[in-house]
Amino acid sequence: MTERTNVRIHATAEVAADAVIGPGTSIWNQAQVRERARIGAECIIGKNVYVDVDVVIGDSCKVQNNVSLFHGVTVEDGVFIGPHVCFTNDRLPRAVNADGSPKTDDDWDVSPILVRRGAALGANSTILPGITIGAWAMVGAGSVVTRDVADHELVVGNPARRLGSACTCGQAVRDGDDGAPFHGPCPRCGTTLPPEGAA
Ligand SMILES: [Zn+2]
Repeated sequence: MTERTNVRIHATAEVAADAVIGPGTSIWNQAQVRERARIGAECIIGKNVYVDVDVVIGDSCKVQNNVSLFHGVTVEDGVFIGPHVCFTNDRLPRAVNADGSPKTDDDWDVSPILVRRGAALGANSTILPGITIGAWAMVGAGSVVTRDVADHELVVGNPARRLGSACTCGQAVRDGDDGAPFHGPCPRCGTTLPPEGAA
């Protein structure tokens, strides 16, 4: 087993012996962490979360109950993943080949997903294969994300569309009726918006 310092793993969680878990991280009831997964320091992995083989999660992430992170997902530091968020990884999902034979691991390609630092994914959102979610971006609850999301971008709906931008503090601000990004101080923290690096 890899060395684990100050890690809290609930008795009902199932964590592969070769999964790397950073110091200060908690893994709650019935969570499953698969082989070679890497979870950073000071993370919370909620009840019934599934972390697939080779998935990488950075430091200080909050992964709420019932999230599924499938093979090919990489999450940077400080990311919030709301309850029941589902990551996908197969652009061409079929159980069988055209001749009716079951598909095996050799019959499909993983499409990776990258979630950049500080981003927040609302409850029950679904992230399609091959997507990048930008730093400090915000995805509204129940959204289906079908295209890349820019840094600090706020998207909602199915398919998820731009509504505005998200301050680093978490405050969302809508674009104007003409589609121009909000300019001015953040109503919550006073930071000048749009944030540096925002789309
Ligand atoms: Zn703010």
